[in-house]
Amino acid sequence: VLCVCCQTPIVARDSAYFVEEEVGRLFCSEQCIIQFFRPEIQTLEKLYFKTVLPTELSADVREAHAHLRWRALESPSEAYEERLPSGDRRYTFVAEGNSDGERTYGVSVCLMLRGEPSFLFIAFVTRHRSLVDAFCQGRPVTLTRESHQDEPASPAPRDRLADDWTADDSARASLVQHRSENDIPEAQFPDFEDCLEGTLQDPSELWQYEVSLERNVYHFIKEYTRAEKFWYVVIARDAEDPAQIELVDAFPTRDADLVERARAGMKRPLPSEGGDADMHEYRGTGTSGRGGGKGHLH
Ligand SMILES: [Zn+2]
Repeated sequence: VLCVCCQTPIVARDSAYFVEEEVGRLFCSEQCIIQFFRPEIQTLEKLYFKTVLPTELSADVREAHAHLRWRALESPSEAYEERLPSGDRRYTFVAEGNSDGERTYGVSVCLMLRGEPSFLFIAFVTRHRSLVDAFCQGRPVTLTRESHQDEPASPAPRDRLADDWTADDSARASLVQHRSENDIPEAQFPDFEDCLEGTLQDPSELWQYEVSLERNVYHFIKEYTRAEKFWYVVIARDAEDPAQIELVDAFPTRDADLVERARAGMKRPLPSEGGDADMHEYRGTGTSGRGGGKGHLH
């Protein structure tokens, strides 16, 4: 069996990742799942940016109401099922809240596996019903969530998705696994340690993806030119303290293909690009000198 994304053979079938059973795709890593669905994520992000109004809630208010996105998944007031040409059933869940007496909405678009959300394409909070409606495609459905007690106790592959930290471990494993023999040898990594702070503080690219419902992984990438051109990649994840992120791994590489693999999930606009795209909250790292607190990229 091959990973449908990178064609890597999946040796043990029970080590495969999957997020749906209608089509039956198998993946070698969570990163490949994200890579595979990236075009669909981008289409939905485009729809978001095309439809969002200038009078949208401020980033701070959206952040304060971020829980609505999870309430939408857990106990939606509305649910829609769209059958895609790929065979996937994509769901949009809506929950209602309020902010200072004004109605707000949490919207989450995902795939479902055995009655549970398995892959989240996009999730946001809005005050505008028009933005909600833009995502309510397909037919309205009523979902009864399966009880956890009905699920087999055996460690089915889907359990790997339920583990908060498996995915960034797999992100790291997947990158390490694809490291070329000609790349910078690990013994030289200490020579590049000074790149860590620079990459965190002033990345050339920042990528973000959600590994489970409230956990993000971040890939900071910075291009350097010294004796030769290389990149420094930092993998970080949300810490227990929501104001912090913590390092998972950091390494230099001269392999453009490996850097391409590190471009996983959603690209965050950097301040230098005038980015204002914070439907997900970005949390500043405690080590970056960016104030050590909660911060937005703009
Ligand atoms: Zn793969």
